[in-house]
Amino acid sequence: MLRKNKNHRRCISCNRIADRQQFWRIIRNYPEHQITLDNGMGRSAYICPQAQCLNLAQKKKRLSRVLKAQIPPEIYQQLWQRLTD
Ligand SMILES: [Zn+2]
Repeated sequence: MLRKNKNHRRCISCNRIADRQQFWRIIRNYPEHQITLDNGMGRSAYICPQAQCLNLAQKKKRLSRVLKAQIPPEIYQQLWQRLTD
């Protein structure tokens, strides 16, 4: 496992720790609580850019639990789209 530093983040699905650049970032923005990808300010969740982790985050509602917010279906659609691009 990598040594922890300030650029390291943890995948909410598989708990893998890696540099933040290696993950997708989902943000619950402050103060409107609107959910965005990649850019935003507020509570953030990180997921490995792979089907297995995305599937877990969605099926087990792990993403909404971590962000304490409803995740709009479009957000998942966009992430699944990235995997097929
Ligand atoms: Zn993962």
